[in-house]
Amino acid sequence: MNKPSTPPLVLITGGSRGIGAACALLAASQGWSVAVNYTRDAKAADQVVAQIRAQGGQAQSFQADVGIEADILRLFNEVDQAMGRITGLINNAGVVDVACRVQDMSWQRLERMMRINVLGSFACAAQAVKRMSTKHGGHGGSIVNLSSAAATLGAPNQYVDYAASKGAIDTFTMGLAKEVATEGIRVNGVRPGLILTDIHASGGQPDRAHQLANQVPMQRPGTAEEVAQAVVWLLSDAASYVTASMVNVGGGR
Ligand code: NAP
Repeated sequence: MNKPSTPPLVLITGGSRGIGAACALLAASQGWSVAVNYTRDAKAADQVVAQIRAQGGQAQSFQADVGIEADILRLFNEVDQAMGRITGLINNAGVVDVACRVQDMSWQRLERMMRINVLGSFACAAQAVKRMSTKHGGHGGSIVNLSSAAATLGAPNQYVDYAASKGAIDTFTMGLAKEVATEGIRVNGVRPGLILTDIHASGGQPDRAHQLANQVPMQRPGTAEEVAQAVVWLLSDAASYVTASMVNVGGGR
């Protein structure tokens, strides 16, 4: 049995940009070593790693597509070898697609959405539980899943598929949390609202967060750093009695 790494180690899927990168930097500033996963943009991941190292922290980047099971298995093995046993997982990697009505969504689109957003989170959490569970000789840990305000709003005429994938994440969070509650593992979720990241550009609406800000009670989009505060708190021992919880970070939306 490996000893837990010192400092504690967190794997962040999609840690190279946006909310994942903000979580990586904040977690590192609070004493976590960080495994930064990315799919395509190695340069962005390496910039996050360099920033953490420049501040005296430990980080390394790892390429893997969380929509592919073999990549996930390889990712966790590589992190084991290079950095040690994780005690934290942030299931952050997620995708949207272009605005579209349900009647026009292709099977291919739906399959990709569910594979990355839902199956990827399930499979990463499964690997994490195998390493963290006291039942398997682990030392416990904390998993934080990125959901979305869309899970409660449905995102009609935009991306009901994405909203439904995040609804699955809410249920997954509750179920897994209860399943492993006596095994030293806490599982929680965060529902960001409209956050200023590149994800909106990948859905064909780069200015979406600003355009819809008038629907937010606080009348502004949020930042990745504001979401990271909630994620890293849930990850930390400061949230030691918090499990099966969802935290909304949406300015009231
Ligand atoms: P983002 O800016 O688009 O960044 C996505 C990150 O995920 C990148 O690091 C990307 O890496 C990685 N990624 C994408 N597909 C991946 C895959 N198949 N396997 C591994 N990594 C992958 O996204 P974000 O806005 O920060 O969103 C992060 C999470 O918050 C997502 O789960 C999203 O659904 C959720 N969320 C965001 C908002 C918002 O308004 N921004 C609101 C609610 C919820 P590469 O660059 O290498 O591809």
